[in-house]
Amino acid sequence: MSQIVTRFAPSPTGHLHIGGARTAIFSWAYARKNGGKFVLRVEDTDQTRSDASMTQGILDSMTWLGLDYDGEAVYQSQRFDAHNAAVDKLLETGHAYYCTCSPDEVEAMREKARAEGRKPKYDGCCREKGLGPCEGAVVRLKAPLVGTTVFEDLVKGHIAVDNAELDDMILRRSDGTPTYNLAVVVDDHDMGITHVIRGDDHVNNTPKQVLIYQALGWDVPKFAHVPMILGPDKKKLSKRHGATSVMEYQKDGYLPEALVNYLVRLGWSYGDQEIFTKDELFEVFDIANLGSSPSVLSPEKLNWLNQHYIKESSVERLVGLLPEFLEEAGASAIDTDLLAKLIPELQARAITLKDMADKALFFFVDDFPVDEKPTKKLLKQDHDVIDERLRDLAEIFEEIDDFTKEPLEGAFHRYMDKHSLKFKDLGAPVRLSLSGQGGGIGLFEMMELLGKDKVVARLRGWKATLVK
Ligand code: GLU
Repeated sequence: MSQIVTRFAPSPTGHLHIGGARTAIFSWAYARKNGGKFVLRVEDTDQTRSDASMTQGILDSMTWLGLDYDGEAVYQSQRFDAHNAAVDKLLETGHAYYCTCSPDEVEAMREKARAEGRKPKYDGCCREKGLGPCEGAVVRLKAPLVGTTVFEDLVKGHIAVDNAELDDMILRRSDGTPTYNLAVVVDDHDMGITHVIRGDDHVNNTPKQVLIYQALGWDVPKFAHVPMILGPDKKKLSKRHGATSVMEYQKDGYLPEALVNYLVRLGWSYGDQEIFTKDELFEVFDIANLGSSPSVLSPEKLNWLNQHYIKESSVERLVGLLPEFLEEAGASAIDTDLLAKLIPELQARAITLKDMADKALFFFVDDFPVDEKPTKKLLKQDHDVIDERLRDLAEIFEEIDDFTKEPLEGAFHRYMDKHSLKFKDLGAPVRLSLSGQGGGIGLFEMMELLGKDKVVARLRGWKATLVK
């Protein structure tokens, strides 16, 4: 077989949606697995709904996900000449004709068909009139009236449509612009696409496109229509389900390889393997293992994968990524040396980078958020007793020159024993006053990383932090 060429063909009318990203990943992985090419075509023909910033957003999302495409991106809006040449060829060969029926007249034909219980469609009024180009005329495909149009979908199997069901579709509008189905066929053909992998919201367009290929005498590519992604409630994915665009996931602190791994497993499987590096994917991905039923979004699984990839990430990488999230949470002038020391402590616990930043924030700002539940519990105790203990500890810690884990732990335990306290009786108020959190990294590591000044000041200022 000739070299496999797949494509991603987004319309820049919105952000890159996770459904689109998933079909892009399938196309990309399939091309890479087969030593083929993965190309990008921006379908920006609807100038009223497309916009350059959206195109840039899609390109940025693809870069972030690591979906590298071959060659330059192709812009559909720059290919009108090729589209028109194909329409002209169809006119010359008798596979297309001019039609002067107005939209109202076509609507009336549809209405009539509906009233008579037939499928509403254009009735072929101008099919045999032999009209030439004129003001207001569209060009329609002279579609076969009998027989069936078939294709073998690589996901859905054999698909056959009665040609009597299909309209003589418009190929060129009266303003001279090509229609979607015509443009897609011409572009896919000219770009040498061998496998069209796309969402199954396009499956009804495919028989129409097959007719155009046949009329032009071109080879028909293979098609794989991928089922939808549904929300956890099994309803069509929408804003209601939370993040739907790739950029939102980035903002929420997901790592690109976690999102790619997650999306590729939505509707595709390879035994029971869950974790795939890019290289593994390029070794084993196959369209044959795409499922034919809709996939249900599982935020828990994405979180699990993200946690895995955070654990796998180098400290260096996370030091580069976290400041943006810390700043978003309210920190400024971030000490990256401190961050590098904190990261190994947080890696085991954080689900997202945002979560990691929230857990680390108290190292960088003094006015940090406070966990309500453990604070409420603590404040039920006598405030004077808490005050006395924390002030005592502040005094003891102030005298420690080697402000590291062991001496701090030793001093803490001696104080605890002297006053017959349990670890949690003393640990809870200390932790809450230092971090606002009921749990987290080891208490003495935390103190060492915070440093003496902050520890002493926060122990003394516990009321201002916790009693609100
Ligand atoms: N531009 C179309 C879309 O974004 C995709 C067309 C195709 O994949 O054939 O829905």
